[in-house]
Amino acid sequence: MGRRGRKLMDLTGRVFSRLTVVRLSHKDRHGYTHWLCRCECGNEKTILGASLRSGATKSCRCWNQEAGAQRVKHGCARSGQTTAEHRAWVEMRQRCSNPRRVGWKYYGGRGIRVCWRWLSLDGFQNFLEDMGPRPSPEHSLDRIDNDSHYEPGNVRWATKTEQSKNRRKFTRTRRVPGVRPDESLPIAA
Ligand SMILES: [Zn+2]
Repeated sequence: MGRRGRKLMDLTGRVFSRLTVVRLSHKDRHGYTHWLCRCECGNEKTILGASLRSGATKSCRCWNQEAGAQRVKHGCARSGQTTAEHRAWVEMRQRCSNPRRVGWKYYGGRGIRVCWRWLSLDGFQNFLEDMGPRPSPEHSLDRIDNDSHYEPGNVRWATKTEQSKNRRKFTRTRRVPGVRPDESLPIAA
């Protein structure tokens, strides 16, 4: 899982929805690359490369704010606007760490882990930053590769239909190679 030694993918000049990548900003202590991006609205923001590539981050946040305003208009938003996202984050951690949980064998029980970026002290903030707000109540967290972990680039918001399409490709009870159930995800350099 470590990102050590993986060749740096240069995203300079690439366009991801409203964002154009200006230059590499830095590599964080978990080994993830962050890129300085210019948004169509004129803002500049540093964004995680994996979130750009997976499509989780599409703007400097101006889109999120517009989506948030929409939600308020439609009366779906509760006072804490991140309630649904927080619940998803807690449940994700539960699935991977609580053997008493229903469905444990599909998650923690077969070695699926949550990355340190999302487990750390700023875990929820990082998660929210990487994933963006839940697009609608029909969306929940979906791992793109069902045999890989909860980490930036492998998780998206998807509807039940999108998820079942994705699931069919995988055997659900296969053990994830190389990770023991009692092991944490390694922290890349
Ligand atoms: Zn913007």
